Amino acid sequence: MKKKLISLVLIAACVFSMAACGSDNGTTGESGDTAGQTSDAGESDAEDASEDGSSEGGTLIMATNAEFPPYEYHDGGEIVGIDADIAQAIAEELGMTLEIEDMAFDSIITAVSSGKADMGLAGMTVDPDRQKNVNFSDTYATAAQVIIVKEDSAIVGPDDLVGKKIGVQLGTTGDIYAEDIEDAELERYNKGMEAVQALQQGKIDAVVIDGEPAKVFVSENEGLKVLDEPLTEEEYAIAIAKDNDELLEKVNTALATLKDSGKLDEIVAKYISADE
Ligand code: GLN
Repeated sequence: MKKKLISLVLIAACVFSMAACGSDNGTTGESGDTAGQTSDAGESDAEDASEDGSSEGGTLIMATNAEFPPYEYHDGGEIVGIDADIAQAIAEELGMTLEIEDMAFDSIITAVSSGKADMGLAGMTVDPDRQKNVNFSDTYATAAQVIIVKEDSAIVGPDDLVGKKIGVQLGTTGDIYAEDIEDAELERYNKGMEAVQALQQGKIDAVVIDGEPAKVFVSENEGLKVLDEPLTEEEYAIAIAKDNDELLEKVNTALATLKDSGKLDEIVAKYISADE
């Protein structure tokens, strides 16, 4: 049953996300900037993360799932949000041109570990299972898994989720934690917003999702609320291929610069108002 659901969702992911189906195998990135590529800098290491090398100019490819406001979402034809701005600031620090690849959340780790993308920024929580496949940068945000319910719900805290129908976004930490809730029945959606809509329609009893997108989704869908008590606390970081220590170091240095200069706070403040 669970497998069937997952494959259904994966099919949906392919329908909605061309990138997830491997149909644009890096052929779309042509731009004048490729002149900055070093054809072969003579580096001895096995740095094959991106064809243009992840150093000295060139393109820095960010993998994301732009369904996660305020961290990444579509605005007109553009992908914007905290992660998009952080990635842009990092690219500037590195003297590179940022390119964003939108894909299913579930595909990001593979895209990074296989070298299809240089780094994954997707409000991605540092998680030991993921660390088997990718390295994480220093963390740049703290987050929490929260519970969304209908305003008149009898569910008032995490303990009340026992035996309930819970909606999550496929492959997220919400999905992982909700699996441990006793007798709970999980409904996995490709987008957090779809889970929230299912809740609004009374198809499920609660949604477990990250706190900031939860606030956005609840503000856009009437009759819902976020419970005060979070399920977990977690931290976001940037995923980088295990064999690309050079990029990891550069990204950490860039992040430290952005933290010290106040630029990181500035980016967060642009998308999250302080009065909450
Ligand atoms: N923070 C959660 C995770 O890493 C959700 C991220 C997301 O949905 N973009 O799994």
